[in-house]
Amino acid sequence: MTPKVVMKFGGTSLGTADNLARSVAHVRREQRPRLVVVSAVGGVTDLLLQAAGEACAGRDGAPFLAEVRRRHTEIVEKLGLEHALIQEQDDELERLLVGISMLRELSPRTRDALLSLGERTSVRLVAAALRTRELDAEAFDAWELGLVSDDRHGRAEPLADHPARIRAAVEALPAGCLPVVTGFVARTVDGSVTTLGRGGSDFTAALFGAALEVEEIQIWTDVPGFLRADPRFVEGAGLIPEMRFEEAAELSYFGAKVLHPRTIEPARRRGVPVRVLGTFQVDPDDPTPVSEQGTLISVDAALEPVRALALQKGVQSLHVHSLGMLEAPGFLSRVFEVLARHCVSVDVVATSEVSVSMTFDKAGLDLGPAVSEISRFAEVELSADRTILCLVGAGLSQDSALLGRVFTCLGQAGIPTHVISQGASRINLTLVTDPPHGAAAMRVLHRELF
Ligand code: ADP
Ligand code: ASP
Ligand code: MG
Repeated sequence: MTPKVVMKFGGTSLGTADNLARSVAHVRREQRPRLVVVSAVGGVTDLLLQAAGEACAGRDGAPFLAEVRRRHTEIVEKLGLEHALIQEQDDELERLLVGISMLRELSPRTRDALLSLGERTSVRLVAAALRTRELDAEAFDAWELGLVSDDRHGRAEPLADHPARIRAAVEALPAGCLPVVTGFVARTVDGSVTTLGRGGSDFTAALFGAALEVEEIQIWTDVPGFLRADPRFVEGAGLIPEMRFEEAAELSYFGAKVLHPRTIEPARRRGVPVRVLGTFQVDPDDPTPVSEQGTLISVDAALEPVRALALQKGVQSLHVHSLGMLEAPGFLSRVFEVLARHCVSVDVVATSEVSVSMTFDKAGLDLGPAVSEISRFAEVELSADRTILCLVGAGLSQDSALLGRVFTCLGQAGIPTHVISQGASRINLTLVTDPPHGAAAMRVLHRELF
């Protein structure tokens, strides 16, 4: 078979029997050949992590496992499916948890094996639910359809030849087959299960969509599409009808959770558009085509002065100051050489003649060793908990009146900014502030700009 559309459904879209049935209705409505990618049933990945954490600490993980079972069983019963469908995965969950509690150890490899069971169960539920609606659906673990990765457990990278493997496996499926594939998980060539990072099912959808060069990758979720601001902080943020790949990449990288940040790259490389759609907002019985709904992310969307805002909390920032920087070639390279040696990757940077400020991508990253090394040749100030506010739009690099409005608005609201950076992509303005001001900054800017 040759799919024309990849449809990915997130956890909330599968969280209850009713939600799952609604997702199934969206799949039924799509006329083109499709490949479906699913996350775990809503909340299951978190519950599995909690169960494992308890078992590893010598406490009782069973209540969390029981809640996972309750959620799965409710779907089985309400949709009239067979219990046997998910028995094998349930037994494996139990075995793994017993092992973790006996050894009091949770290796990254075991953690991935355990977490994968969320998706490896939901895929079977969704395929069975589709079969009850006369679709010839079959559940697959992603590796059965060619998704192989390296062995970086918890943040695995697909192997370079994954597109060819995916194409060969999917094209070998019989015409009319509707594959339902696990998001988030992959496997190494020697058979060890890996995961792609939290929220990684979007990335799986993009990997399949790009490899198969489909017409569109659809991300079905619990909001109507990509919104102008994070709905967790701003009420009534409007829907963005279209945006460019690089805008979505910046926004998702800096906290717009609606898309996993790694989703954009495979899609952009192959020029496959991504459409974000609301499972509960799009009515499967409404004749309005899906192509007129949600947010379309593509290479050539019309530009706007400001497209959207994103917010990332819990960011570490480092301020390096030295009079030795004055006209001293090589100072910055010395700082970055230390960071590179400690495998620290930098996100936002701003420099002056005598100082450089930067932020780092990973929460929980231990900057101690790098900082003590840099402090041998410069003054260093480390802040453990900053908030990044990211503005994206085509006007942010040239329109000084627009920038004036941004800073006036922040100034009037009494919001401090520690670092201001304009990326070379010329579509973003990134500000670093303190946690109590992040949401307020987003709210006042949203009101001012939209
Ligand atoms: P799924 O389980 O479908 O993958 P996620 O929870 O990962 O869903 O992503 C959807 C959530 O992303 C929304 O419920 C919303 O809270 C959050 N979000 C953050 N920023 C944005 C934004 N700009 N537009 C839409 N949603 C956003
Ligand atoms: N189930 C995984 C998670 O919760 C992957 C995903 O939902 O995309 O992180
Ligand atoms: Mg998600």
